[in-house]
Amino acid sequence: MSPVAKKKKQRVRGKKYVYFFGGGSAEGKAEMKNLLGGKGANLAEMARLGIPVPPGFTITTEVCTYYMQNKRTYPPGLKEEVEKALQKVEAIMGCRFGDPGSPLLVSVRSGARRSMPGMMETVLNIGLTTTTIPGLIKKTNNERFVWDAYRRLLMMYSDVVMEKAEGIEPGEGKGIRIQLERIMEELKSRKGYKSDTELTVDDLKYLCESFKKKIKEVLGKEFPDDAKEQLWGGIGAVFMSWNGKRAVAYRRIEGIPDTWGTACNVQAMVFGNMGETSGTGVGFTRDPATGENVFYGEWLPNAQGEDVVAGIRTPYPINEKTKTEYNKHLPSLEVSMPECYRELERIRRILEVHYRDMLDIEFTIQEGKLWMLQCRVGKRTGVAAVRMAVEMSKDKDIKLKPEEAVLRVPAGDLVHCLLPMLDPKEERDAVLIGKGLPAGPGGAYGKIVLTADAAAEIANKYKGQEEGKVVLVREETSPEDIHGMHAAQAILTSKGGMTSHAALVARGWGKCCVVGCSDITIDMERRTIRTSSGVVLKEGDWISLNGTAGKVYKGKIPLIQPDIEHNKTLKTFMAWVKKFRKLKVRANADTPKDASNALRFGAEGIGLFRIEHMFYGEGSEEPLFLLRKMIMAKSAEERIAACNELYPYMKEDIKRTLEVMKGLPVTIRLLDPPLHEFVPKSEERLNELAKALKIDISEVKKRAESLHENNPMMGHRGVRLGITYPEITRMQVRAIFEAAAELLKEKKKAFPEIMVPVTSTAKELEDQRKIVDEVYQEVCKKYGLKKIPYLYGTMIETPRAALTGDKMATVAEFFSFGTNDLTQMNYGFSRDDIGSFLPHYLNKKILDNDPFQTLDIEATGELIKIGITRGRKIRPELKVGICGEHGGDPESVKFCHHVGMNYVSCSPFRVPIAQLAAAQAAIEEKVKKS
Ligand code: ADP
Ligand code: MG
Ligand code: MG
Repeated sequence: MSPVAKKKKQRVRGKKYVYFFGGGSAEGKAEMKNLLGGKGANLAEMARLGIPVPPGFTITTEVCTYYMQNKRTYPPGLKEEVEKALQKVEAIMGCRFGDPGSPLLVSVRSGARRSMPGMMETVLNIGLTTTTIPGLIKKTNNERFVWDAYRRLLMMYSDVVMEKAEGIEPGEGKGIRIQLERIMEELKSRKGYKSDTELTVDDLKYLCESFKKKIKEVLGKEFPDDAKEQLWGGIGAVFMSWNGKRAVAYRRIEGIPDTWGTACNVQAMVFGNMGETSGTGVGFTRDPATGENVFYGEWLPNAQGEDVVAGIRTPYPINEKTKTEYNKHLPSLEVSMPECYRELERIRRILEVHYRDMLDIEFTIQEGKLWMLQCRVGKRTGVAAVRMAVEMSKDKDIKLKPEEAVLRVPAGDLVHCLLPMLDPKEERDAVLIGKGLPAGPGGAYGKIVLTADAAAEIANKYKGQEEGKVVLVREETSPEDIHGMHAAQAILTSKGGMTSHAALVARGWGKCCVVGCSDITIDMERRTIRTSSGVVLKEGDWISLNGTAGKVYKGKIPLIQPDIEHNKTLKTFMAWVKKFRKLKVRANADTPKDASNALRFGAEGIGLFRIEHMFYGEGSEEPLFLLRKMIMAKSAEERIAACNELYPYMKEDIKRTLEVMKGLPVTIRLLDPPLHEFVPKSEERLNELAKALKIDISEVKKRAESLHENNPMMGHRGVRLGITYPEITRMQVRAIFEAAAELLKEKKKAFPEIMVPVTSTAKELEDQRKIVDEVYQEVCKKYGLKKIPYLYGTMIETPRAALTGDKMATVAEFFSFGTNDLTQMNYGFSRDDIGSFLPHYLNKKILDNDPFQTLDIEATGELIKIGITRGRKIRPELKVGICGEHGGDPESVKFCHHVGMNYVSCSPFRVPIAQLAAAQAAIEEKVKKS
């Protein structure tokens, strides 16, 4: 055996697969998430902190990987390790697993490195068999409880272990769980019960017998009546659930690698279903929606585990302070069990100070004694993240440093603070059709759809269009719905609380969401929703949601942008961001209105002002017509005439934009129109043109045809237009200089940067530079000015331009990387035709991301680095920036920081996000260096 192989074998043999926790100590700790999963690592940490945690042990994620790779078998030695750990649990609990006299029951729980809420499986009450049932009844003196626990075990185990883990895929409504639930519903309605708690001992016994029969009938196997068999069945099923359909789908969306695997936690059961002095609940140490420092949660007396989140019973509020209109009549834990509540408050503080963060917790109370079952850093909205970061900096025990606070808020989540909301003026007059819980803030509207599949389908079909906006309306969502939830503008559920699946998922994504809106009933047959006030809406009708207030309206209410100027917390936070950030952030803006919006969001200039955009949208008719005239001109004479007519419009727009920006740099890109896009198609428009040009319609058509290109993306565009028609460059440059000159004359500031697009050689830049110089002299003379401050530079968007950065920089005073085209040219992927193949590339994992959204750092990034290095060798002061979609993407911004750019430019409302990403990049760099 080679020494390397030998060493490897030894390591495998010496490997520890099982980590014990409980009784005030633990073998694992919070830092060991990769090995123990988040749940296991944090259970260990809580045990270390002396917090009451039922004892148990964690089987590592490595065992999961082994299990998958070795035909569902375990590494040698695992059984013995599990046996030993189980004995420790038994010693602490004073009872034994499978023992007929005093049986121990356990839960078998999944838990990956990163939380995947509800995506994997857990089985409770393992160890109940015909031999242990009598013992447990005797021990607890609570027959009802034991049969209830057994009934739950039968339901969970048959579903998770005997069906799902075996890869059985029953048809719609045929799953074992649903079949068992039907038996129970049938009994309840026969007896006239409203709640599960009304079931008697005899009812439960009857249910258990029927369940066992049904399981045999449907799955063709007896329910295992041996504790150990149940235990190993549960462990295997937890590992298998890593590759369950939902888990895989969730990983795709969240970008979690398939190779991580889940850990498996085996833990002594504690029972919240032992009567009125027992209960179970979940909570957040602070309000996850707003960030307010209040204990926020829900609980239920006499209930077990998933009852609170399952939405079977309406959960009760945890304390008086957080009661809402909907649960104010229900008893809070604070009032019902004051001692347990105080203990919970104490633990809440211990955890927050220890983790220095907000946590999401699960607890169970067994006959007046509180047990903690889970804690993890809680998901939160961006609004809450900012508030918590700022307030935890001021907390005397937590004392988050400003740089820690800045790192706390995921840059993309800042969008929640900048979220659109329903226009309040319109909202006041709208028809309110329901109220629910405000699970995901912001406003949204869309067409009602009642299934996740339909939501995904419509959103995909009409991508980016108004028609594609849908609101997913469900009684409740389940992990099976995530693709539709992802595609929808907003989510509305008629059931469920703030910790329901819909609420958790929506919050994570920053999606507008209202849950528990009991005012609406869904009729799947007629495909309608009916409100308590009798309004009936069909699938496809528009509704609007205010996710911050939990309100639902009929119809489409327009959205408006948030008021960031008056948000004090955000201001404090952004001041810290500013302190650390080196990279400047500009905005892409094409109109004076966009420009003032950009300023409002804190932009430090405009990185991309596209001249041709004045030919789109509102008020563009006249200039567009003139542009067409110019494009269709045959001779220089005709073209100059058209240019002259167009010129005043251009100058006006540029002047007003420069004025708004008050001397901050404004990068104006010379015309880069894909010409064919501007050629009219309708007969009427062609006729108009013919008249204006004083030529025959057939001649117009001929000219239009001659403009047709086989590959317009690589056609007569960008600087090529300026090379062939210098008069077009001349007109634009004149508009820029005169606009600036007039402002200077008015004692105002102006700083234009003239940017030449789609260049590939320095010669092109020299050619255009001559025109710029000439016009500059003319304009200075005309206005009697000695100087107009400006820069001349280029967009780098062809690989050749990047590779010849040293040549380009002899003429260009700045580079702005146009990463949309640069990506297009680098891959040879046409941006406009990518739809037909990109999905396959992503599915087959040939590409991890859409390179037009996430900068391809490996190769496009390399071109950028080369361009910068070569350019700065010739011109050290060369100003470098980026424009295009990537300027607002946090990961790409970090890259821009690291390659030494001066600024990034993105859409106005993403400016704060880019600023935050830039600050985080600077802090992370500092941390790495030290
Ligand atoms: P998930 O990750 O989906 O939340 P969990 O493993 O946390 O799954 O378990 C599901 C439910 O069962 C939770 O409410 C949890 O508190 C409860 N539970 C898990 N283990 C135990 C236990 N040992 N005793 C009592 N309740 C438990
Ligand atoms: Mg849990
Ligand atoms: Mg371009």
